[in-house]
Amino acid sequence: VIFLVKRALISVSDKTGIVDFTKTLVAHNFEIISTGGTAKTLREAGISVMDISDVTGFPEMMDGRVKTLHPKIHGGILYLRDNSQHVNQAGTHGISPIDMVVVNLYPFKETVAKDGVTLNDAIENIDIGGPTLLRAAAKNYTFVTVVCDPADYSKIENELKAGEITLSLKEKLMVKAFRHTADYDGAIDTYLSRTLLQEKVKRFSFVGGEKLRYGENWHQDASFYKDVRCGGPSLSNATQLHGKELSYNNYIDIDNALLTLKDLNSENPSVVIVKHNNPCGLATGKTLKDAFLAAWDGDPVSAFGSIICVNRIFDVETAKCLEKKFIEIIIAPGFDKTALEILKNKSESLRLLELKDFEKPYDNEFTYKHVTGGLLEQTRDIGLFEKWDCVTKAQFPDSKSGLSKFAMSACKCIKSNSISIAFEYESGYYMLLGMGAGQPNRVDSIRKLGAPKACANLKIMYDRMNAVTPMKISFDEYKTQVFSECVMASDAFFPFDDSVVYASEAGLKYILSPGGSIRDDEVIATANRLGVSLVFTGMRHFLH
Ligand code: 5GP
Repeated sequence: VIFLVKRALISVSDKTGIVDFTKTLVAHNFEIISTGGTAKTLREAGISVMDISDVTGFPEMMDGRVKTLHPKIHGGILYLRDNSQHVNQAGTHGISPIDMVVVNLYPFKETVAKDGVTLNDAIENIDIGGPTLLRAAAKNYTFVTVVCDPADYSKIENELKAGEITLSLKEKLMVKAFRHTADYDGAIDTYLSRTLLQEKVKRFSFVGGEKLRYGENWHQDASFYKDVRCGGPSLSNATQLHGKELSYNNYIDIDNALLTLKDLNSENPSVVIVKHNNPCGLATGKTLKDAFLAAWDGDPVSAFGSIICVNRIFDVETAKCLEKKFIEIIIAPGFDKTALEILKNKSESLRLLELKDFEKPYDNEFTYKHVTGGLLEQTRDIGLFEKWDCVTKAQFPDSKSGLSKFAMSACKCIKSNSISIAFEYESGYYMLLGMGAGQPNRVDSIRKLGAPKACANLKIMYDRMNAVTPMKISFDEYKTQVFSECVMASDAFFPFDDSVVYASEAGLKYILSPGGSIRDDEVIATANRLGVSLVFTGMRHFLH
C-alpha cells in the first residue's frame, strides 16, 4: 500500500506557532491527528483535524492520563516501513502510518517552580503519553519526523518547501527529542528527590566536547563542552576572528580575564593582562590606549605571551601599541575594522576573540569545582566591601575610594594569598603596580612579590620618563612619593602584624584588609606605630 497522504500527530501543551505550522503541513498534503486541547485550537483556526479517538476507537480518558497510548498510534509510529513483516502486521491490524509527531510536554518545570505547588499538582503534570510519543518517533526517525521544539517549525517548513525533509534534519530532531525527554525525566527526579527524599540532585547539560589541542600539558587530552543553558557572557558564544585554535589553558586564562574586567566594572576604558590565571596587569584610562599602556607597565615582564581583555571596541591606536609585543589572545566586545587588519597582519597565530555578550551579567549565581569523588558548589563572590572601618589614627581619605575599589577588585581575581598594589597614575585613572599571588603565606606575597615587583615596574616607568625629560627627583624619591599614595589590598585578614610591617617598610601607607583576625589589635597597634592607615572591609575574597 502506498500512502500519498502523510499523517502528522500533533499534541502540544505550548501552542506557540502551532496553527501556522499545521497550515503549512496541510498545504503539503498532511492529514492531522490531534488530542483534545490541541484539536480545539486547530479547529478554531479553521483547520480540519481528526481526533485521536477516531484513530484509536477509544475515548481520551482518565483526565487525559490516557490519550494516545494505543497500538493504533504507536504501531503507526514504530513499524518499519521497509520490513515486510511489520508492514503485513500493520495491515492486519488496521494500523496506518504516522509520519510526523509534533509534541511538547506538560510544563513540569514551570509547575514545580510555582510557590505552594503540591505533590499532587506536580504528579499530574508528569507527561506520560508525550514522552512516549517522542521516544517512539525518535526511535523510528528515518521514517518519522519528530518535533519537540516550536523553534524547529520553520526549519521543517523550509525543507518541505524545498521538496522533502532531509535525513540530516531528522537526525538532529531525533537527538533533540531524546535530550528533551532525558531533561524532562531529570527535572522530575530532581523535584521528587528534593520533595520526598530531602536529597539534592544536580544536573548539568554540557554538549559539544570539542577537542582541544591538548590539556594543561602536551601529553594530556582535553575537550571543551558548551554550557547550553548559559544566558550570561559565554565563552562558547565568542567568535574567533583570527589565529590558531584555543587551548585548555587559554580557556582558563580567558575566563580569569573576563571575570577581572566584569568585577572591576569600570565605566572607563579598561584593560586586563592575564598570565597563568592571574591578572598581572590591570588599568583604567581616559582612552583604551592609555589603559593598555598602563596595564602593560603594571608588569611588562609577565605580559610577554599574555592574554588581553578589554571592555571597549579594540581601536587602531591600541592595536598600534602592540606592534613589538608578543601576545597570545585578545578578547574584546568588538574590533574596529582597521584595527582588526593590523592585528591579523601582526601574527598568524594571534587569537582574536569577539565576545558580543560581554556586557551581559553572569546569569549563573554559582561556581563549581570538581574534586575527587564530588563537586563543590558555591555562590559567586559578589561585592567588594561589607563595611568601611578605618581602624587607625591615620585616616583614610575619601579621595582614595576609587583607587581602593580598584585595588580590591584586582585582589579578588588574583589567586590567594593575594595582595595588590594600586596606583592612581592620573587623576581618576588607576593601574595595578604590583601583585603577589598564590603564596602559601601572605607575607611573601607582599615582601617577596608585590612590593619588589611594584618597585621594579615603577623603575622602568621612571627610566622611560627620565629618558624623555630628565626627572627632577631621584628614583628613590619618586618611589617614596608614589608608594605613599598607593593603596595595598589584601584578600584576607593579617594573621600577624608582619604584613603591615613589610608593607610599611616598602613605603606603603594605605592598606585594605577584611580584618577579623584574633590578633587584629596587634595589627592595628603596629599600623598606628608606623603611621599606616588601615581600613577593615569585612569581606574576604579568597580565590583558589
Ligand atoms: P491537549 O492540549 O492536546 O489536550 O494535550 C496536549 C498534551 O498532552 C501534550 O503535552 C502531550 O505531551 C500530552 N499527551 C499526549 N498523549 C498523552 C497521553 O496518552 N497521556 C498523557 N498523560 N499525556 C499525553
